Amino acid sequence: MGSLYPPAMRRLINELTRLPAIGEKSAARLAYHLVTSGQPLSLTLAEVLKEAAEKTHLCAVCFFLTEAPLCAICSDPARNRAVLCVVEKPADVVAIEQSGGYRGLYHVLHGVWSPLKGVSPDQIKVNDLIKRLYAKERGDDPLLAQVEEIILATSTTVEGDATALYIGSSIESLNIPLSRIAQGLPKGGELEYADQMTLHMSFEGRRRM
Ligand SMILES: [Zn+2]
Repeated sequence: MGSLYPPAMRRLINELTRLPAIGEKSAARLAYHLVTSGQPLSLTLAEVLKEAAEKTHLCAVCFFLTEAPLCAICSDPARNRAVLCVVEKPADVVAIEQSGGYRGLYHVLHGVWSPLKGVSPDQIKVNDLIKRLYAKERGDDPLLAQVEEIILATSTTVEGDATALYIGSSIESLNIPLSRIAQGLPKGGELEYADQMTLHMSFEGRRRM
């Protein structure tokens, strides 16, 4: 499919299919929209794509997205630095912030430990979290206060649970109280797609591990 389209449009379709959740039919539909809607949209899109890719990187401390060395949350003096919430992806930070109530710091793993999918702990930011907590213990992390609680807010999937357990066993000697969000979220549910009320309640109903 697609070989009947002219060459430049075919290239566009090929590149679009490299995006997550975009199959060949969706790519062809998007490409058709772009090439027929005139130059302004395509040019603006090209410009914002380049700018976003060049400017956006990961926060040096929590790995959320930022254009500065530190993200808006890490550099906000009003945040509670004694509570740390561990999530899988940046969209989870956004979902939790929108659900309201949480005012602590975050750590974004950028994935979950998944032996079945060939993802090992060193391919996600989990060891960075462990290093961060041990650095705090040594007094080397000025951003984090004495941690009073770590909320493990990875998805309630098998991989999310396994990742939470891995973190728990890796920092056992630090004796930091750990809790796991659970109640309210559907089993296998991803945080990003939970509605605000559900997410808020799963935080309120978190359990000590
Ligand atoms: Zn940050």
